[in-house]
Amino acid sequence: MEFKRCNRCGNFFVSDNDICYECEIKDRADIAKLNTILGNSSESLSINDLSATSGINPSNINRFIENNFISF
Ligand SMILES: [Zn+2]
Repeated sequence: MEFKRCNRCGNFFVSDNDICYECEIKDRADIAKLNTILGNSSESLSINDLSATSGINPSNINRFIENNFISF
């Protein structure tokens, strides 16, 4: 275990994850929201479209895509 800087809020924390516990909860809610939007959309959305529809920061959306939390 080592101190890490949270990828989402920038706070230091001790964990094996890339984000702190509080952000993990927020991430899960955001991922569920994004998957719902993606699942309901018949056309392909850009990251900016997704961000505008969901209110979620594009950098967070990019992180979810990089970690394969959402399929885009
Ligand atoms: Zn955090």
